[in-house]
Amino acid sequence: MSFSAALDYAILMKEAPGPGGVSMARRPLRPLRADDVLVRISRAAICGTDLHIIGWNAWAAKAYKPPFALGHEFSGIVLDRGPDAADIHIGDKVAAETHLACGHCSQCAADRGHTCLNLQVFSRLDCGAFAEFAVVPAPLLRVLPADLPHKYACLMEPLGIAVRAVQESQAEAGQLLVVGCGPIGLLAIAAAKAVGVACIIAMDLAPHRLELAKAVGADVLIDPRAQDADAQLRRNAQEGGVDAAVDTSGNQAGIGLALAAVKPGGNLVLAGLPEAAVSLDLSRHVILREVAIRGIYGRRLHTTWRDTIALLPALIPALDRIVTHEFPLDRFDEAFATAISGQAGKVQFVVND
Ligand SMILES: [Zn+2]
Ligand SMILES: [Zn+2]
Repeated sequence: MSFSAALDYAILMKEAPGPGGVSMARRPLRPLRADDVLVRISRAAICGTDLHIIGWNAWAAKAYKPPFALGHEFSGIVLDRGPDAADIHIGDKVAAETHLACGHCSQCAADRGHTCLNLQVFSRLDCGAFAEFAVVPAPLLRVLPADLPHKYACLMEPLGIAVRAVQESQAEAGQLLVVGCGPIGLLAIAAAKAVGVACIIAMDLAPHRLELAKAVGADVLIDPRAQDADAQLRRNAQEGGVDAAVDTSGNQAGIGLALAAVKPGGNLVLAGLPEAAVSLDLSRHVILREVAIRGIYGRRLHTTWRDTIALLPALIPALDRIVTHEFPLDRFDEAFATAISGQAGKVQFVVND
């Protein structure tokens, strides 16, 4: 089976620099290169990265040159493939890793392809998952169980970040503080619950996000605007502090609170991207209390996908709560406004499901 280059399809494009500038275009299907795979998109989800691009913050303005195609979190079905895409088969259900490693640098040799020295990222390859179809390099695709509904399959990429954050926190059966209850924070809470973390403390400024946090497994909720966060943390944490914290807020105050809340010898995992340099009291917390800080940038390219697929069955009820909105692709303005409002969990496009 081969799809003719005459086919053209709907795709959301960031057309111009500056806030907004998103429109629906039609793009002709380009001929497949040797390791390309043609995917019919079933569902796609809006990520914080997409919102930064649409809002055109300083980071987006530096990293991207319009026009380019939007969207990287998706689930779909393989329709066609180039001759070198031997591990992918027509009819496979797939999602995409967003980090494309070179395979020959020192980081790749050390099994750290996610921080490859020649790293390419999905969102700068102009593949575009907010579309009816996408042509994706085969090394980025991960084949998922055929019976996994697209609603969950299309969460694999952000869920992988959350699963990895919990793993790296080494909270084990102890106490974990999650700062920031947007989609990644909520997914981290759900993952922590699923792997047996005994006590999950969730912190966010939005009451409805804290409600969602509770629904997916948080035991203690802290709104630092409504309560004295330090006192609340002291009251709810064990003596000495929580075993570990995960920050998904990327916010100076949030990261500071998380660092101070961790017990001596515990771990702080940073999964949210601050827009500017952050100031932390290293003497007091990192040196004198030996708290270890680890940043994580996406998933490990293979083990995290494997671990996340294994954990999925336990996560389905939580994922149903976290996906709060579904839109057809042509209602993209409404979908982005919903995601930006902060009143939503994960917002998905239902394209062909
Ligand atoms: Zn994403
Ligand atoms: Zn490399």
